Amino acid sequence: MANADLLNEINKRRTFAIISHPDAGKTTITEKVLLFGNALQVAGTVKGKKSGQHAKSDWMEMEKERGISVTTSVMQFPYADHLVNLLDTPGHEDFSEDTYRTLTAVDSCLMVIDAAKGVEDRTIKLMEVTRLRDTPIITFMNKLDRDTRDPIDLLDEVEDVLKIKCAPITWPIGMGKEFKGVYHILRDETTLYKSGQGHTIQQKRVIKGIDNPELDAAIGNYADELREMLELVRGASHEFDLEAFLKGELTPVFFGTALGNFGVDHMLDGLVQWAPKPQGRATDTEDFVPAESKGFSGFVFKIQANMDPKHRDRIAFCRIVSGKYEKGMKMRHTRIGKDVRISDALTFLAGDRALLEEAYAGDIIGLHNHGSMRIGDTFTQGGDYRFTGIPNFAPELFKRIRLRDPLKQKQLLKGLIQLSEEGAVQVFRPLINNDLIVGAVGVLQFDVVVARLKAEYNVDAMYEHINVATARWVYGDPRKVDEFTRKAEQNLAYDGADNLTYIAPTMVNLSLSQERYPDITFAATREQ
Ligand code: GDP
Repeated sequence: MANADLLNEINKRRTFAIISHPDAGKTTITEKVLLFGNALQVAGTVKGKKSGQHAKSDWMEMEKERGISVTTSVMQFPYADHLVNLLDTPGHEDFSEDTYRTLTAVDSCLMVIDAAKGVEDRTIKLMEVTRLRDTPIITFMNKLDRDTRDPIDLLDEVEDVLKIKCAPITWPIGMGKEFKGVYHILRDETTLYKSGQGHTIQQKRVIKGIDNPELDAAIGNYADELREMLELVRGASHEFDLEAFLKGELTPVFFGTALGNFGVDHMLDGLVQWAPKPQGRATDTEDFVPAESKGFSGFVFKIQANMDPKHRDRIAFCRIVSGKYEKGMKMRHTRIGKDVRISDALTFLAGDRALLEEAYAGDIIGLHNHGSMRIGDTFTQGGDYRFTGIPNFAPELFKRIRLRDPLKQKQLLKGLIQLSEEGAVQVFRPLINNDLIVGAVGVLQFDVVVARLKAEYNVDAMYEHINVATARWVYGDPRKVDEFTRKAEQNLAYDGADNLTYIAPTMVNLSLSQERYPDITFAATREQ
């Protein structure tokens, strides 16, 4: 393939995820975005979320409809001469680790805010994560068809709480029952809103020019109000600045209603125009692998088990960092130092798993995992490096897991190790006994693990209380670590990937150990 063709394929791609607080409208906007992408058959099936918003029912739902959860994990669709990859993130905070790692696989994020509620908790947390890589953020203020807060207040709140400058690209005219439309500041045109058209791509009426008398005819007094308001907005907010956006310092802000499919196209236009094309990634040995380098490379950011009951397999989601995947190609699995031939990578188009002929930097491919792949694994065409920056977080909740049938110990361990490789949960094996300790970041993970052990490994397990406050991965000079291991043996364990971990009964124990062993690192995150 000529280099120009490769560059062309890379340049037209955009890979992003949506960050939002539950109920802000992530699912709805996903549906509309797919509607624009002509992926209609997918748009109908996005996460069949009904009345109950509880994530547990979501998970059961997901269990029942695993085919659907596949398609909603990664969606690819064409828009305005571009190819857009949208990665779904789990809504419930108990699965936040999964979300964090998914955010390492995108190049930009769409932040959806419920304009009646403003900045909410989960958005704050997710923004902290995007900060780690200064991911560019596009903002969509949603639900303008309802009574919302004052738009200027909303921008102030985003700036104050999320510490990012706001550059409004569109400005709303009225709200709720009186929502008239939005004015596009850069295009100097007003798009008029009509309610009840959300399921379609509408031919909207657009009025060019802010001083156009047609505008007064169409929206009456709102036209003059808008003109005055814009003076104020210009004084009080920032102008769009591409460089500041790409550094994650400024966010373009769009207003609209996802339900009414209004303003979503403005946002998408901004995304394909300004959001970065696929970006390279840092590695542990080579400096940086740019997307444009010719050889294929990619990393696994998520593993999902048995997504399709007919297939009973595990799929490793691999973000392509550079070059091109071609069916049947050989790639190097750098953690185990082996070449593997991949002829059956999956793509997730159009509601079904489809075998993939080729894919490019920025795309996500699904690799069949027969047990040799872990989160963080790197695949290359030759190079012996690993991509960095895919974190594991120290769990905050712990339980001892026990079998109802003691003869199944081996299966239990196998199941737990596989589930920990998937990032579903973390498992610790104390040095001094045969206990198995399960560590989680969110409570629901515990339920999911027991249900999956039963369904997938035929193991009947239950939990017991255990006194553990926190866990830390232990690193340092091998001699010091040996000495520490002898002294603190009763509080040490190996995790699912055999890393030494300090299991602290109380936070006081942890700080005492840190004081006593200043040469040892007690890490709260671990790079895969
Ligand atoms: P998620 O939890 O972020 O995925 O949120 P959903 O997309 O499921 O939306 C939560 C609720 O808000 C649903 O009842 C949606 O119908 C509703 N909703 C989403 N967008 C809008 C909007 O623009 N206007 C109104 N009035 N309701 C909306």
